[in-house]
Amino acid sequence: MIRTIDEARSLLAGGSTGRDLLERAAARQAELESEDPALNAFLSTIEPESQLGSGQEAGPLAGVPYAVKDNICTPDLPTTCGSLILEGYRSPFSATAVARLDAAGARLFGKTNCDEFAMGSSTENSAFGPSRNPFDRDRVPGGSSGGSAAAVAAGVVPFALGSETGGSVRQPASFCGLVGLKPSYGRVSRYGLVAFASSLDQIGILTRGVRDAGQVLEIISGPDPRDATCQDRPLPRAAALDGVQLDGQVIGVPEEYLGFGLDGEVRQAFDAALGQLEQAGARIREVSLPSAPSAIPCYYVIAPAEASSNLARYDGVRYGFRDGSGAGLEDLYSRTRAGGFGAEVKRRIMLGTFALSAGYFDEYYGRALLVRQAIANDFERVFDSGVDALFTPTTPTPAFRLGEKIANPYDMYLSDVYTVSANLAGLPAVSVPIGNIGGLPVGAQFMAPRFTEETMLGLAVRLEELVGYAPPDVDGAAA
Ligand code: GLN
Repeated sequence: MIRTIDEARSLLAGGSTGRDLLERAAARQAELESEDPALNAFLSTIEPESQLGSGQEAGPLAGVPYAVKDNICTPDLPTTCGSLILEGYRSPFSATAVARLDAAGARLFGKTNCDEFAMGSSTENSAFGPSRNPFDRDRVPGGSSGGSAAAVAAGVVPFALGSETGGSVRQPASFCGLVGLKPSYGRVSRYGLVAFASSLDQIGILTRGVRDAGQVLEIISGPDPRDATCQDRPLPRAAALDGVQLDGQVIGVPEEYLGFGLDGEVRQAFDAALGQLEQAGARIREVSLPSAPSAIPCYYVIAPAEASSNLARYDGVRYGFRDGSGAGLEDLYSRTRAGGFGAEVKRRIMLGTFALSAGYFDEYYGRALLVRQAIANDFERVFDSGVDALFTPTTPTPAFRLGEKIANPYDMYLSDVYTVSANLAGLPAVSVPIGNIGGLPVGAQFMAPRFTEETMLGLAVRLEELVGYAPPDVDGAAA
């Protein structure tokens, strides 16, 4: 197992090479896949033997292995987005975030399983079979970055990249006892992140501890000439997190986030964590975000609308899978898309195409944009009134069972009820584990004003110290 970046560093300091650590990750991965049922966290992994083991790596993450969600481009391994339509597809270039990690000396171990094109909350929408929750293999790891969460929680790699459009890093982090960080929109380049809904998408980070997330964030952040939405702001410094004190911080708790089917035991864990923050000197203030109940409907107009446009490029001509068994170009498009996309992706394309159609544009897409602005205004008003960060449960329940929600998309969509607003408003958010319910981890999240990751992660470090919860090691299918 390699649990944390520090653990990797001490192995390296003790004489291990970067290749040794990749071998260790491969051994752990093989062990997890030999169990029944397998974790199915990875869609592809590198051969450690093919890698240099000189031990000469330089950089802040020299020799540290990591994993990347399979919707982020890496030339060394395929990028399938969990879809048959990209099966075997290999990108000719690296995503900027991946290139920055490589330049920092980190080493890609593998690509992780995910819901097809990051659409889902359980990884059950992967064309390559679901991943499983390391703490209960009959349950989902969350999604859509479920493979990344399972890989880190089971100790294959100390950190993984995921992606967030509406909660796909924080929700699986909560289900797997991890820290899940969604940066501000515009903090991390989206170049090489396969587009789902471009105005919401952001690469995120899964780790065991907040400080590790902070270290990775500092490396992958910053402007990129290849992504005009990525901003030139002072980098969030990992070294600054310890300077953030709870004393005097105003932490808002939005009343709307304690409804929406919040499980009683999750509520208890949340209240206990909130009490600890207060005892340690934070000033807790009840606040209201009146548009919060509209977040899920708003998201499920905007995200499918953008997806229907972004996914038009998978036509059987330019990338991956092609079904040329019909006659003519129209037939090539429709057969390729009919055979290459799964049910959820098709549902979203239809929803999105409908919402953007001439007769319904104003009624659906136009109105959703107004609601999105109202949601952003709610946050702005609360932050302007002196609230430094908001604190809420990350998910209404702990991990659910495989198959439990797949037949009812609306139920599945509701597992993101607390997470989508941060994406709609472009805010940074971080989920921190706060305990477990019958062995199933649960998390709570901070959301903060845009580009205030340093303060937000500092608060998260304090919370993690106060709660003192670390998920146990997973040692087998029985765990
Ligand atoms: N679960 C949400 C969805 O299905 C969010 C996905 C994501 O953040 N990528 O769209």
